[in-house]
Amino acid sequence: MAVKERYEHVQEEVAETCRSCGRPADAVALIAVSKTVGLEEVEEAARGGARDFGENRPDELVRKSEAFPEYRWHFIGNIQSRRIRDIVGHACLIHSLFEERHGQRISAVAQEMGKVQDVLIEVNVSGEASKSGVTPAEAPALVRAVASLPHVCVRGLMTMAPQGDLDVARRCFFDLAELHARIKESLPGEDALLFDQISAGMSEDWACAIEAGSTMVRVGRAIFSDTF
Ligand SMILES: *Cc1c(COP(=O)(O)O)cnc(C)c1O
Repeated sequence: MAVKERYEHVQEEVAETCRSCGRPADAVALIAVSKTVGLEEVEEAARGGARDFGENRPDELVRKSEAFPEYRWHFIGNIQSRRIRDIVGHACLIHSLFEERHGQRISAVAQEMGKVQDVLIEVNVSGEASKSGVTPAEAPALVRAVASLPHVCVRGLMTMAPQGDLDVARRCFFDLAELHARIKESLPGEDALLFDQISAGMSEDWACAIEAGSTMVRVGRAIFSDTF
């Protein structure tokens, strides 16, 4: 199979998994994580129907989104202050915000650009030292702080589950969904309505994430690698 066929295959499986969980077939957005490939593969995935792409490095986000401005580009990587201008200038959604000072900077840059930047708060649900994100206990306060910034809109939560054990990953996704529901309940009207996204699930575990209520899965290798 080539990239186009693999994308189509994963997209069909995502829709099928939604149906089998009693969710609408389009309840979950499939984000094609193109961080390891070039423009040609992006184009191939797009021929299979991909419209949402994820990048974890600002340089590649800029390069690919400028080559394909008609698609939605998601930033899923580590945020550095000096790259915030590039990220805000090119990302429809930042999945990986977990420091309030970065939120403040994002808001200031977004104001200059005349936009409101959508963000997700990254939560380290599993507590693994190698993962970034706030702890679940810290998440509600950070969501409130970032929601109060004028040019940022907090759309939900994001996590990365530990790899290698689907039961552990599943627990992590259900914990995130529970935290999401709890925070949503605590937010005032308009903020609660907009807090409607959960970004969870990668090549190995996206089906578990959909079962738990994820609304966005970020899939790289299952689409772009012929050895996955
Ligand atoms: C690379 C990456 C993915 C995709 O991982 P695969 O295992 O290749 O599907 C998803 N989310 C983040 C944050 C990533 O860095």
